[in-house]
Amino acid sequence: MIDIMAVNDGKYVSIGDIEVNDTEKKIDHEFMDNLVCPYCGYEDEDAGDYLETDHGEWSCDECGKVFSFQADYSITWCTSKIIPVEEIKSD
Ligand SMILES: [Zn+2]
Repeated sequence: MIDIMAVNDGKYVSIGDIEVNDTEKKIDHEFMDNLVCPYCGYEDEDAGDYLETDHGEWSCDECGKVFSFQADYSITWCTSKIIPVEEIKSD
């Protein structure tokens, strides 16, 4: 339950309670491999091929609502052995 408040002359006035939609909370739309609509949960597996920027707005192919997107980058690290010069010359 969320208490909805309205501002009236700078004072908060409660205008009632609403039930939070349970299905809305269950949509997994962050840190996904594809764009996932935060409204209906539709996963657009092709959108990534068309995106020319790493952030912006996209309209859902399923429900038609517009939502914002932002790419999330993660860094991976590689290591390699350093061979001492003497070992290479010994042949
Ligand atoms: Zn949608």
